[in-house]
Amino acid sequence: MMLTENELLPRLGVFKKLIDVLPEFICLKNRDGEWIEANEFALQVCGVDRCSYKGKSLNEQNSLCSEGMIQRSRKTDKKAWETGHPIKIQEEVRQKDGSYIYLELIKQATYDEEGNPLYLFVTGRDITQHKEKEEELSVALELLESVLEGTTDAILIIDTNESLIRVNHSFENMFGWEEHELLNGDIDFHIIIPDEFKAESKSIMGLLAEGSTVPSFETQRVRRDGLRIDVSISFSAIRNMKGRVIGFCLIYRDITAHKKVERALRESEAKYRVIAEHSKDLIAVANPSGELIYSSPSHEAILGLTNNLEELNRILFSRIHPDDWEFLRAAFMKARTKKKPFTFEFRLMHQNGDWLVMETNAVPVLNEWNEIESFVTIARDITATKETEELIRKSEKLSVLGELAAGVAHEIRNPLTSLIGFAQLLKETDEAMKDKYVGIMLTELKRINDIVGELMLVAKPQAVHFEYSSLEDMLQSVIRLLDTQAIIKNIEIKLKTDKDIPSIYCVENQLKQLFINLLKNSIEAMDQGGVITLTVMKKKGSITIRIEDQGSGIPKERIEKLGEPFYTTKEKGTGLGLMVCYKIVKEHYGSISFESEEDRGTTVQVKLPIYPFSVV
Ligand code: ADP
Ligand code: MG
Repeated sequence: MMLTENELLPRLGVFKKLIDVLPEFICLKNRDGEWIEANEFALQVCGVDRCSYKGKSLNEQNSLCSEGMIQRSRKTDKKAWETGHPIKIQEEVRQKDGSYIYLELIKQATYDEEGNPLYLFVTGRDITQHKEKEEELSVALELLESVLEGTTDAILIIDTNESLIRVNHSFENMFGWEEHELLNGDIDFHIIIPDEFKAESKSIMGLLAEGSTVPSFETQRVRRDGLRIDVSISFSAIRNMKGRVIGFCLIYRDITAHKKVERALRESEAKYRVIAEHSKDLIAVANPSGELIYSSPSHEAILGLTNNLEELNRILFSRIHPDDWEFLRAAFMKARTKKKPFTFEFRLMHQNGDWLVMETNAVPVLNEWNEIESFVTIARDITATKETEELIRKSEKLSVLGELAAGVAHEIRNPLTSLIGFAQLLKETDEAMKDKYVGIMLTELKRINDIVGELMLVAKPQAVHFEYSSLEDMLQSVIRLLDTQAIIKNIEIKLKTDKDIPSIYCVENQLKQLFINLLKNSIEAMDQGGVITLTVMKKKGSITIRIEDQGSGIPKERIEKLGEPFYTTKEKGTGLGLMVCYKIVKEHYGSISFESEEDRGTTVQVKLPIYPFSVV
């Protein structure tokens, strides 16, 4: 039975309440596109006025639908009427708050039995959430793609049957095979595995298939051109939504260059090790806090200690001479801050109790961030050399002393003569004059005592011992010793010092020897008499002593030779004086320089640090 419009509408009214609560889009239009009925959802989504929508087509409605949507709707309505098939469309409707609701709608035209058009049913649902998911997925896929193609690592994706799914561009570059060649079945991707690694690869795929996680590891693969490359491979399983493993992703990183460096490093390390192991020098590597991390076997032969790192770390420091400790510590501090190599000498005790003098080069090794990673120290036993040097110094001192003694004897004879005279006088003199004579005698005796004392002091062998001493006192006693000789030659020695000259850390007797040698040279160069000026100046962290004479001077070409042993222009000279001077200055971490003009005079400048390792 065919229902008339009048019969149908009330029936629809009955269902109205029901369809209003449905969260679906339901709308009924006539052939002219006018809305006949719509449920609450449809009205709300389209923003159509509930009281006045009936009998109006979409473009006549006051709605949220855009112009484009209205036009598209008209077109799809037409299509639905013409074809009689359900037409599926998607639309987005912008809501008042700016958000969008995506609709999936189906339009179905209905006809009466004679084929006359009845109604167009428009039904559908809100697919906003679905749409968002889809978008998220496509973003994720895009991301994945950009990772695949953006990385320089080669990526291979296979399913659980080890059939290739895809490779990325870097894979093609790394191995030389194109993706399509591997995909169309001509070439099996396993071709990149060298024969001897096939078993290894198989066992790993087995582990993966069992569901175990496999850590990345290093192996070799072969390229299309036959070249072997070192690779590090990492694996991950690909799972579906339900968590089931559906494939594997293999990531290859080319570590050939890295391996090459590693191999070269190992080879060069081996080379250096051979050198260190066979060297007669003590070679050691210490970490920045001074703890040894390597020591060469030579420690055994030279120090008589077992070459055991733990043992060495425990006792080596206690074998350093207590007087050298401070130098060493300061030297290391300086090297640490300046990050520069340095050389120093120190004494180390042999297992048998002998002291060895070690000349040591310490080189800080910097890492790529310019931080000290370790110190390499190379120490050489220079005890024998030192002993020869010491011998030279002593014999030179003796010859200087011999000359000095002659001067002193001369100096002593004069006061002695007067003392004898006064003693005789005293016998015959009355009480009043006695006091005066005794006074004169005491002055002369004191002078003799001073000079002899000074001579004894220099002559006396003393242990090398660093301590803080006053430069001014040292210079004054040196002048006292040499004054006699100077006066005989009509030379005046003047001493000028800056105010507040600080004490310096030195071996006093050695510095005296240094100044005696320099002053003696000046005196010997001045046959016409004149003035020798000693000037002491204070600089930041150091003191400069200048000795300026008015002697014969030194020819330019000879200045370079000064300090070489046995170079002398004097008949009775030894040519060792200046050599000893250079050594003494070096041991005090100072410097010495000469300036001279022939027939005008010579100026010697000695610069000494107040504290040899003060970090300036
Ligand atoms: P020596 O005094 O025994 O000759 P030195 O090593 O003390 O040995 O000095 C080496 C040489 O340097 C001297 O022979 C002399 O020619 C030269 N010389 C050193 N100091 C002076 C000086 N102040 N004036 C001129 N010549 C000097
Ligand atoms: Mg001399």
